[in-house]
Amino acid sequence: MSDAAYDVIVIGAGMTGIAAGHYLGESGIPYTILEANEGVGGVWHTHRWPGARCDSDFIKYSFSFKPFLSDQCLQSSATIRRYLEDVVGEFSILGHIRFGTRVLKAVFDPQVTRWTVHTTRGLFTARYLLNGNGYFSDEPYVPEFAGVETFRGELIHTSRVEGGCSFAGKKVVLVGSGSTAICAAPAIAESAQSLVLVQRSPSYIYEVDNRVGWLIRISQTLYRAGWKQPVKWLRAYLQARDDFIFVGFRRFPRLARWIFRRHWIGAVGKRAFEDHFTPRYNPWEQRIAVALGLKDKLRTGAIAIRTAAIERFTESALVLKGGERIDCDVCILATGLNLRFFSFDIHVGDRKIDLERINFHKGLLVGGIPNYFHPMGSWHSAWTQRCEPLTRAAIRIMRYMKAQGLGTVSVPRREVPCRPGITPNYVKRALATMPRLEGTTDLPTLDNMDANRFDATRLHLA
Ligand SMILES: Cc1cc2nc3c(=O)[nH]c(=O)nc-3n(C[C@H](O)[C@H](O)[C@H](O)COP(=O)(O)OP(=O)(O)OC[C@H]3O[C@@H](n4cnc5c(N)ncnc54)[C@H](O)[C@@H]3O)c2cc1C
Repeated sequence: MSDAAYDVIVIGAGMTGIAAGHYLGESGIPYTILEANEGVGGVWHTHRWPGARCDSDFIKYSFSFKPFLSDQCLQSSATIRRYLEDVVGEFSILGHIRFGTRVLKAVFDPQVTRWTVHTTRGLFTARYLLNGNGYFSDEPYVPEFAGVETFRGELIHTSRVEGGCSFAGKKVVLVGSGSTAICAAPAIAESAQSLVLVQRSPSYIYEVDNRVGWLIRISQTLYRAGWKQPVKWLRAYLQARDDFIFVGFRRFPRLARWIFRRHWIGAVGKRAFEDHFTPRYNPWEQRIAVALGLKDKLRTGAIAIRTAAIERFTESALVLKGGERIDCDVCILATGLNLRFFSFDIHVGDRKIDLERINFHKGLLVGGIPNYFHPMGSWHSAWTQRCEPLTRAAIRIMRYMKAQGLGTVSVPRREVPCRPGITPNYVKRALATMPRLEGTTDLPTLDNMDANRFDATRLHLA
């Protein structure tokens, strides 16, 4: 048993855990961060495939306490990883992280109102758990393909591809249509002899110019000169714009479809637009993939697209429904990840909590689990825009409890209908069991006003 007296155990040193470390440290609350990996960053530590990057403007996605200033809107996974390494150093978070420590089980003892956390490196105890274990499982999603065992080429999932690898002289097929495929394709095409992007069905894709515009440029110049407020306003504006587009596209799908039509038809022509860029669903029912350099690579023929299901693999090719055969040396699967909200078991007393369909109150507290916080970031915008305010709300609750001499905080477990804000395939696969959000509009611009005024009287306090 670790003899250190922590108030809070944070699980994970990804963006959520690092933000928690910052705010706990700032509030003088003793904490430790337990991290299974040997480095910080979470998904930005593990996703190193060519082209891996964010698709949220990083001035907004980076932390509010350390906005990332740059001439580019979107940043590569490697840049984000370095940024997070700088943050844990600069804000003295690094010394609180125990790397290579995987949490296996957490047990809350209602008698002494403390958690005991069982890990690969022994036991730790604390009054509160703050779970930043992410929402993707370590195992990627790989669909079943007929004949795949006969394929003699290299078959690999993007999440297992290392950055910096070269596909020189190789005929590559990239399977997928989501953000990963759209980020990876232009980067892989740089070195591959040929690249065919095979998608079962199209997704919405929007190509952007990665250079920052005048508004961001001016805000950053003022920030460097010591005027921090304009970047704060800019981040709020970018968030409001995301929410506005999200709601607007959902409310007016025909207008949204028209915008995408105009965006692509000039670049690829009517036929290709209808075949490859016209999804079956409406804009923002799934996350919109943000492309950099895709139009150019399609125009020059460095990337070809096919839209059809894969019927089977042969020794040296894959065969599409309809009969087309595509020869390849390497087949990269950008087929997505599996959702996983809890990476360890949770017990309250001697009762193991059934985590299926559990209610997430305001995206922070979880039904029937005392002294447990699980800040859930935004899905249609930048994660930090909601996870940071929620973490500050959690700390306000802890301070309130300390001031009042209270031992436990919780919300009741209850059945809540499942209404996910977006329904990409990884959400559809997990719909039956995934946690249910309640008490939130799912729009950070509105939620943050409420979360920042988190009302302790609405909680079960004892
Ligand atoms: C390729 C990619 C691109 C993305 N782009 C964007 C984007 O543009 N904008 C956006 O908002 N979001 C994006 N996301 C979503 C991203 O997951 C979140 O933005 C955010 O990084 C989540 O941070 P996290 O710390 O909650 O989780 P993670 O980054 O998943 O980190 C969780 C950490 O917890 C650790 N952990 C898990 N279980 C245990 C355990 N049992 N014991 C100890 N440690 C454990 C893991 O090792 C990991 O380090 C992207 C995700 C991916 C994969």
